[in-house]
Amino acid sequence: MNIDFNKNKDGLVPAIIQDAITKNVLMLGYMNEEAYNKTVQTEKVTFYSRTKERLWTKGEESGNFLNLVDIKNDCDNDTLLVSVNPVGPTCHTGTATCWGEENKTNFGFLSNLEAVITDRKLNADKEKSYVASLFEKGINKIAQKVGEEAVEVVIEAKDANDDLFLNESADLLFHYLILLQAKNYTLDDVVKVLKNRHK
Ligand code: AMP
Ligand code: ZN
Ligand code: ZN
Ligand code: ZN
Repeated sequence: MNIDFNKNKDGLVPAIIQDAITKNVLMLGYMNEEAYNKTVQTEKVTFYSRTKERLWTKGEESGNFLNLVDIKNDCDNDTLLVSVNPVGPTCHTGTATCWGEENKTNFGFLSNLEAVITDRKLNADKEKSYVASLFEKGINKIAQKVGEEAVEVVIEAKDANDDLFLNESADLLFHYLILLQAKNYTLDDVVKVLKNRHK
């Protein structure tokens, strides 16, 4: 990538950090070339800290790393948009963003699960991860799986076994979340449609 590190005469470019799923802007940091290279190599966002005057891997003390999803250059190559999966709150004050905001699209545990699914989609070993292997097989296979789980829910709904019904319901929801991501959507996109209908 052809980044203009010398526009500001100090070798630093601003890096806007965005949550890959919620699209929230989490924080702003600065990268020099070394920080950028380290970010790409380790897939953990690393800045040049003007306060610490050294490379700073976000999360190095707290464990609240920013796992890299994507980096884009802007129109004139002087500002980076860094898409991430944050581990825990990004701000050291404990909020999701450095502007005191909590996640706008918070479906609790389902949002965590979505983040795990995104991670498997982008990073996981296809041999070891079931979710990664599903993404490898493609949308048709995933959609078929959703269909099968839906039929299993229907079958168990007719029976009196609550345990099986709940388990098949969980299978359905899980595979549906995977299908949404295979189509590059999230639960929030579906909820938006529902909210619009509600008006
Ligand atoms: P961490 O990188 O999360 O382990 O935090 C290490 C130190 O970096 C903290 O004690 C803060 O001083 C600072 N810090 C952490 N997160 C942020 C942030 N989002 N914005 C500014 N400073 C931060
Ligand atoms: Zn620009
Ligand atoms: Zn902060
Ligand atoms: Zn099932």
